[in-house]
Amino acid sequence: MNANIRAVRVAAEAPAAAPASMRTGEEYLRSLRDGRAVFVDGERVADVTTHPAFAAAARSAAKLFDIAADPANAERMTFTSPSSGKPVLRAYQIPRTHADLRARRLASEMWSEASFGMMGRTPDHVSSFFCGFAAVPEVFAAGGAEYGERVVSFHEKLRENHLWATYAIVPPQIDRSKPAHRQSDPELYAGVVKETDGGIIVSGAQQLATAGLYSDYLYLSCIHPLQPGDENYAIGVAIPMNAPGLKLYPRRPFALQASNVFDHPLSSRFDESDCFVVLDKVFVPWEEVFIYRNLEVCRDQWWKTPSHLYGNLQAQARYATKLRFLIGLAAKMNETTGNAALPPVMGQMGELAALISIVETMLEAQETVATVDANGVLWPSRQALYAVMALQSEINPRMIEIVRELTGAAMISLPSSQKDLDSPLTAPDIERYMASGTGSARDRIKLMRLAWDFIGSEFGNRHQQYEKFYGGASFIVKQNMFRNYDMKRAKALVDGALDIA
Ligand SMILES: Cc1cc2nc3c(=O)[nH]c(=O)nc-3n(C[C@H](O)[C@H](O)[C@H](O)COP(=O)(O)OP(=O)(O)OC[C@H]3O[C@@H](n4cnc5c(N)ncnc54)[C@H](O)[C@@H]3O)c2cc1C
Repeated sequence: MNANIRAVRVAAEAPAAAPASMRTGEEYLRSLRDGRAVFVDGERVADVTTHPAFAAAARSAAKLFDIAADPANAERMTFTSPSSGKPVLRAYQIPRTHADLRARRLASEMWSEASFGMMGRTPDHVSSFFCGFAAVPEVFAAGGAEYGERVVSFHEKLRENHLWATYAIVPPQIDRSKPAHRQSDPELYAGVVKETDGGIIVSGAQQLATAGLYSDYLYLSCIHPLQPGDENYAIGVAIPMNAPGLKLYPRRPFALQASNVFDHPLSSRFDESDCFVVLDKVFVPWEEVFIYRNLEVCRDQWWKTPSHLYGNLQAQARYATKLRFLIGLAAKMNETTGNAALPPVMGQMGELAALISIVETMLEAQETVATVDANGVLWPSRQALYAVMALQSEINPRMIEIVRELTGAAMISLPSSQKDLDSPLTAPDIERYMASGTGSARDRIKLMRLAWDFIGSEFGNRHQQYEKFYGGASFIVKQNMFRNYDMKRAKALVDGALDIA
């Protein structure tokens, strides 16, 4: 290990004076009023915490900080900072034992349950990438010792200040038939356009910072393959969300169409938003430049550190929560319609349970088959992670299909809105004909609305796209699986069978 990096690590483990108390939801919300440039319907959003498109999801995000700050959750959500000795978010713990890895997952589960698995890029996602980067700073130091030191310091900065980073690491789909430097304008894809004594200037666009408008920092880098000539785009930099020149263009916010929580129970509260990022001559000081014009380091950060494994383990923990929610929803719908005890329905629920169990048990396999590297850091099992990621794009639509099949018109044969339950003109019919054998019309409609928001609404459909693409296009995920399967052992078996002469 490089001597300077070792020094940074030792310093990080010595007690530091700066006390760090946990960040509350209220403090988090206040920090979002920082002048960040977010644009919706052609206008700049003055305050994301009060704008109708974003306010409710901002409160859902704030709740995550309150959960972590609650002394009752201290053991689950925090660990002792190696530098300050104070509690900090578990999401920033670099796992050195199997118990650490499991503890990280349990913390992620608690956060994911707060949104029923609907918010994917909570603070524990990109924090996991930074844990992976800081665990193997040698990869960054290949570009110069200072880059390794900076990535360790930045991980510490995020950790000590309970910060939330999101990322944009995919080039925009402008013309994928040409590399970054051969686009019609070399400043289309996000890259460095100028170097100064104090740092670098970055311009261009990058996709797709989910939860970007709710976070503190953007990690801008590239996971798509780059080629010689693309050096200006081979960077890894952290940018505060209110940096001059950084602009966020969220897709159409679902909360604007969600008139109330009863009719839109998920889209009104948990739309984490997906932001297209534009950088207009954004200055990044050298301290927050971790990769600079280096194709190898830009590639190796994902594959030669455990970053991709930690980040996607968090994603799978969140996904497992969402699937438990899905099967719970299906079970309650079957009970409501009186179909739960039908053998074919039990068979379909069994298939659903089997698919969900694969995801749940593969999470545990990532932990139990984890290996320890030369720095004493745990790497979750690649085979277990990529197996379930590779299957996800196939099994997720299948599971949605099963729920659709089980429900018939249940999610559709509902009154137009909550107002029909409240109006004396319509309430008598609704209450008489829309009740179920297990409860009132209000109970039944509430459940079916929840199911529709989950599966059929625009919010639900965005989720299906998310589950397909959040970890990259499925052809790439399957190639990762191929590379990480023990083909040698499999072929040796065949060789054994052929050895008959
Ligand atoms: C809801 C959502 C949230 C997201 N959140 C984030 C985020 O927080 N941060 C972030 O950085 N990114 C995020 N992404 C972006 C995500 O990482 C990308 O969508 C993903 O990497 C795929 O890249 P792409 O969209 O450019 O698709 P493409 O690479 O253009 O692929 C689209 C399709 O084209 C075909 N194709 C393309 N190239 C090839 C090839 N070489 N060989 C064969 N077939 C090919 C395949 O059918 C593929 O499925 C998000 C995406 C979605 C949909």
